Amino acid sequence: MLKLAERMGRAKPSAIMLVAEKAKKLKAEGRDIISFSIGVPNFLPGDHVYTAARDSLAKDSGSYGSNRGPDALLDAFLKHLQEGGFEGYERKHVATGIGAKQVLFNVMYALLNEGDEILIPTPYWTSYLDIADILGARSKLLYCSPEQHYKLTAAQLEAAITPETKVLLFNNPSNPTGMVYTHEEVRALADVLVKHKIWVISDDIYNRMIFDGLGYAHLVKARPELKDRVILIDSLSKTYGMPGWRMGFVAGPVEVAQAIVTLNSNHITNVPEVVNAAAVAALTGPQDVPVLKNKEFEAKRDLVMAALGKCPGVICPKPQGAFYVFPDISVSYGKSHQGKLIQNDVDFCNALLDAKGVACVPGSAFGEPRAIRISYTCPSAQLPDGLQRIVDFFAELA
Ligand code: PMP
Repeated sequence: MLKLAERMGRAKPSAIMLVAEKAKKLKAEGRDIISFSIGVPNFLPGDHVYTAARDSLAKDSGSYGSNRGPDALLDAFLKHLQEGGFEGYERKHVATGIGAKQVLFNVMYALLNEGDEILIPTPYWTSYLDIADILGARSKLLYCSPEQHYKLTAAQLEAAITPETKVLLFNNPSNPTGMVYTHEEVRALADVLVKHKIWVISDDIYNRMIFDGLGYAHLVKARPELKDRVILIDSLSKTYGMPGWRMGFVAGPVEVAQAIVTLNSNHITNVPEVVNAAAVAALTGPQDVPVLKNKEFEAKRDLVMAALGKCPGVICPKPQGAFYVFPDISVSYGKSHQGKLIQNDVDFCNALLDAKGVACVPGSAFGEPRAIRISYTCPSAQLPDGLQRIVDFFAELA
């Protein structure tokens, strides 16, 4: 019997994709479904992005491209970094890939030997744990409760780091919680990190999706001496409304960027030229789309919070970024909906989808079985209806 590699025994499909697919299937069968499952921004980039893509196709040489990314794109990303307050990065510090997911996979591949320890604040974005598992790394989950607003504290970080620790994964703003760390909180974490020589992967892909006038704090800006071991991950998927285009970036120490180039050279060779051209246009063109969308997302966040306020016993710290809300719905455990007993987050999501046609992702996919994730990127017109169905669902629990 021929066997797959052992590591495939540790690989599993994305739990979010599974829920999204189930919702899609029910919709195709004619059910009235509102999906709060997947994090796809419901806006498209401006015309300048499509024009650049068409121009690129018209000039296509049909050849391979650079493993790192074309200079025009690297320079556009460097300018973007500089405008965000990140100083001193040059082309040798950056590289591109097929979305943040592939870049992140490569960075983790480049840093982690089998058995190496990686700290993952929990709730976490599902792929962090899954990629670590595939690579055979040892994940140490740092549980951050709803009471601490799902945020890692400096004391928790200090207590977790041991000589065994190699990497910390840090995500701000957070998927799945939508939480945003304040300058003080980031500074306190950075103060701990300067004392311990570990790598930090900073997943910053929601960095422009911050509400309520809150600024964007970053470990490297708080303590610039961390620059030689903090690796920044960015992407056009969320902030520029371009998830399907698959453009991701890394910025960090020269040897890490070079490792990504080497992996690209043996793996993808290059991001397609048409995508590179579209990405340059997105980064250098009008920047008003993300700003305007933030206003819309902020208003939608408020609607979600108001609806959850009508669900007795639900605990939900107010998110200030990304487009997710992560309520603790464990008050429903032990109760029934239309005769169906709810014992955990998966039961809750199944009952909600079956009875009300609303798809949410169980929190256990993110390491928090007391919660569910609501992604509010659906069309604005659908949101009140979907939320009312959740309120009704709670009212009907017995
Ligand atoms: N990091 C986080 C926190 C995410 O939420 C996602 C996408 N859901 C990714 C990385 C991957 O993004 P991309 O589309 O650029 O691959």
